[in-house]
Amino acid sequence: MNFCQNCGTKLANASTCPNCGAPVATGSPQQAVADRGSFGWAILGFFILLVGLILFLAWRK
Ligand SMILES: [Zn+2]
Repeated sequence: MNFCQNCGTKLANASTCPNCGAPVATGSPQQAVADRGSFGWAILGFFILLVGLILFLAWRK
């Protein structure tokens, strides 16, 4: 449940507050999804580096 940051009215999936008309900030959940996505890419990059290091050590012999 979201609450208006301007007047504290309960909000049910509204983009603006029904009481005072203030715009409702809905960016936080999307930002969390973006953070999880970049974290996944960081893990993927780490494994690519790890595989590259293993191949480099294998080719040196
Ligand atoms: Zn309000």
